[in-house]
Amino acid sequence: MLIMGQNSGRGLQEFLNYIGGKWTKSKTGKTFQVSNPANPSQILGNFQLSGREDVQEAMKAARDGLKRWATTPAPQRGKILYRAARILDELAENLSKTLTMEEGKTLKESEGEVRRAIDIFLYYAGMAPNLDGKNIPSAHQRTFLYTKREPIGVVGVMTPWNFPIAIPAWKIAPALVCGDCVVFKPASLTPLISHYIIEALDKASLPPGALNMVTGPGREVGEEIIGSPEIDAISFTGSTEVGHRINRKIAAGKKFVRIQLELGGKNPAVVLPDARLEDVVPLIKSSAFGLTGQACTATSRLIVHESIKDKLVKRISEEAEKLKVGNGLLPGVEMGPAVSEDQLQKDLDYIELGTREGAKILVGGKDGRKDPETHGFFVRPTIFDEVHKDMKIAKEEIFGPVLSVMTASNIDEAVELANSTDYGLTAGIYTTNLSNAIDFADRVDAGVIKINKSTVGLEYQVPYGGFKQSSAQTFKEQGQEAIDFYTRIKAVYVGY
Ligand code: NAD
Repeated sequence: MLIMGQNSGRGLQEFLNYIGGKWTKSKTGKTFQVSNPANPSQILGNFQLSGREDVQEAMKAARDGLKRWATTPAPQRGKILYRAARILDELAENLSKTLTMEEGKTLKESEGEVRRAIDIFLYYAGMAPNLDGKNIPSAHQRTFLYTKREPIGVVGVMTPWNFPIAIPAWKIAPALVCGDCVVFKPASLTPLISHYIIEALDKASLPPGALNMVTGPGREVGEEIIGSPEIDAISFTGSTEVGHRINRKIAAGKKFVRIQLELGGKNPAVVLPDARLEDVVPLIKSSAFGLTGQACTATSRLIVHESIKDKLVKRISEEAEKLKVGNGLLPGVEMGPAVSEDQLQKDLDYIELGTREGAKILVGGKDGRKDPETHGFFVRPTIFDEVHKDMKIAKEEIFGPVLSVMTASNIDEAVELANSTDYGLTAGIYTTNLSNAIDFADRVDAGVIKINKSTVGLEYQVPYGGFKQSSAQTFKEQGQEAIDFYTRIKAVYVGY
């Protein structure tokens, strides 16, 4: 597969920044390496370790590009997105393999994510001819009132490593269709897959400056984007800690910058006695351990009614024990590695902490192992029983395959436990009692509620965003609602 890089000797490809429609090296002259978490000695490429000057150049290119892109008729912008979607579609098989090699998720999970990114491009391309305003009746005679949507301007996009093609897609596609120009900084663990989005849009004849990509450290590249005088809006997905940092920096700045911050989660799944356990077991297994637990929407707290707890937990534990962990490219593997050595260590530290806090390990544990041959960052799926809501493993985001089990004696207690963290991203309930299901949906403090469905998995046409510490709660992502973030509304009064 062709990638816009250069061979940097020793057969290793060097990947470039994309600024003003050109592939360019960083002015720092430095690069960083990206490797396969299932086999860390496999280096996937060298990427630009960019600095502040590179960002400044990209921000200027975006500002210059705005003159042309913002005035390109929306249906034409949509056609470019369609072309990019077709290019990505042709590459889908290779993209999925690349995603597995770079992030570690299984091939099946990668195929799902790549398909989703393509669908997102198609969805927003289709929205292009419908970026409408309103006609509003005037209180005065011979007056015509209307509103129109305009691009917000230059948008900084910063994304995490766990969905490194889908999340950039769900930010970049609506931004471009709305006529904004983007400066994109992908996560440093996974910049390779992000390259393909840029490459597809470049080949689809996106004009220079509409999309720019600068790779490098968040503290330098990200902060320079946020502090740039050219910035009009920031769409960030990542940790709550960095989200707060960005929020503080914007608030302290001299300019009003529109922000969208989608952050961490600690998602509960409640199981009531009338739930169909044969459905619940596979759904909890995939929600807690699928994607190696590295989904912001993963189920990390299982809140079970006391009357069925032993039976349910035994069945989930048996499934977790059997789960095949390994290189996500291999057939039969159900759970890939942690994304990095740091993430592996974080998982193991929390597992040790849970034991110290007094929770009881049912499955897994801290003997997370590097594969003796490949030294991959593998960790075992782990289930803690007897977890109390005040324990750190019940409150803090681990972002690994660690499930904490808590017991409730009725729906009120279950709702209280579900709401007992600072986060509020997704929440699930398993029950055949409609009244309890809707009551839960009303009372639980989360932006997405799943009834008899996995807490993981979102549809792109539905607005998405968390509550509490999971989001700045300014604007929703995805669906029609994304357009509200990427446009501003102008009211026009016409006397005739
Ligand atoms: P992170 O916050 O460390 O980094 C996210 C992005 O921000 C990366 O590109 C990073 O380089 C950049 N960054 C880091 N420091 C920065 C700074 N000071 N200024 C600007 N940019 C900076 O998060 P991560 O480890 O990449 O991702 C995991 C986190 O993302 C988890 O907390 C997870 O819950 C969250 N997440 C949330 C959602 C959601 O939709 N709510 C989706 C996926 C992941």
